[in-house]
Amino acid sequence: MIRTRIAPSPTGEDVHVGSIATALINYAWAKKNNGRFVIRIEDTDRSRLVPGAEERMLTTLESIGIKADESPIVGGPYDPYRQSERLTIYQDYAKKLIDSGKAYYCICTAERLAEMRKEQQAKKQIAKYDRHCLKNSEAVKKQIDGGSKYVVRLKVPDDKEIVVEDTIRGRITFYTKDIDDQVLLKSDGFPTYHLAVVVDDHLMKITNVIRGEEWLPSTPKHIILYQSFGWEPPIYTHVSLLRNPDRSKLSKRRNPVWASWYFSIGILPEALLNYLALMGWSHPKGKEIFSLAEYVEVFDIKDIQTTAPVFDPVKLEWMNGMYIRQSQKSELKSKILEFYKDKNLPEDLVEKTIPLIQDRIKKLSDYLPLCEFFFKRPEKFDIDLEDKKELINNIREELEKINDWKASIIGESMQNLVKKIGIKAGEFFMILRVIITGKKISPPLNESMEILGKEECLKRI
Ligand code: GLU
Repeated sequence: MIRTRIAPSPTGEDVHVGSIATALINYAWAKKNNGRFVIRIEDTDRSRLVPGAEERMLTTLESIGIKADESPIVGGPYDPYRQSERLTIYQDYAKKLIDSGKAYYCICTAERLAEMRKEQQAKKQIAKYDRHCLKNSEAVKKQIDGGSKYVVRLKVPDDKEIVVEDTIRGRITFYTKDIDDQVLLKSDGFPTYHLAVVVDDHLMKITNVIRGEEWLPSTPKHIILYQSFGWEPPIYTHVSLLRNPDRSKLSKRRNPVWASWYFSIGILPEALLNYLALMGWSHPKGKEIFSLAEYVEVFDIKDIQTTAPVFDPVKLEWMNGMYIRQSQKSELKSKILEFYKDKNLPEDLVEKTIPLIQDRIKKLSDYLPLCEFFFKRPEKFDIDLEDKKELINNIREELEKINDWKASIIGESMQNLVKKIGIKAGEFFMILRVIITGKKISPPLNESMEILGKEECLKRI
């Protein structure tokens, strides 16, 4: 059975869009193969934990439809799914490696390690632990028995080739002479990422590790660990990182990277998922708009491209606009009401405005700037109306005559007025638009006036 996982660390505000792209692939590959998709929380780096991040990440993933079959929330056969609750497991496995001679205790102080690195640098050698404690294991053992703090290091085999077989990148060869004796267990009893990820992926029976390419340099270390335990490694796929349109790396210092930011400007989750599915993969029929279910159906891991995908917020907005256009009117109404819930917009009025704006907005946050005049009389006007008094009187007289307050009748009456006074139609309607909406750009004017009602329009005029 195919079992995939994502293993996010709760070290940011929410889920990074790049992590959602990776999560989608893991989810799709599991679902496509009737397998299981697991979410495991990697929270062993205590210094980088951000309070509330785990909950926000899990809620976001769940709410956008990337539902886990096993996770810290839903549980599962390999509970617990939070690494900080599995410490004794890692300690036991570290001990097993020590007992079989594949790992060793190290009591070197930070000062000694710094000194060693300085010397290596001076000699232009690569920075690697010099195995001082391995060579003096008897003395080290005694010190530990006497209460000395220690870490556990992996004994990286000498002069071996480590081959990573990546489903989309092919064979990549690494040499153990370039690999440091990694710390596996820290002096506070917490595992490092390398030990925890390998132990958990093995115990949780993960068949495919699909993760960002930034983890590729760690993979030979993981393979050495699998070999040291005598376990079968999973199948690896390292997907390319998202890039900005100028090809620079997406970084949280320069870009909005958190899913919650995109939702806060009114990007719909289904549009975000659809757009992210296209990062490094294309629909076999070249389709751009498709549902999560369709993605799962047509997805194949071998079709992932290694070229760096471009994450373009402008394209994402365009796609979001397509989703808004395709929504049922009632559904769009609910989304707008929910998006502006702190504003308590009147539902019946929002409902009437939907047909006027559905084709015009690209994200939910475009709604109010365009439609605010429906809910509030404008206080500011895009053009100066001071010298338009005569024209305004003419408009009022004409509109007062209308009994059946319908867009088409309003339009006709205003066209007649344009002819009667001999003003340019463009200029006239711009003035009228500014009077009613405050702005030079608005939803269709006659329809907007119909919605506002005769009394309100006359008041504005
Ligand atoms: N905890 C790592 C992360 O935050 C997981 C890397 C992996 O998938 O092995 O992305």
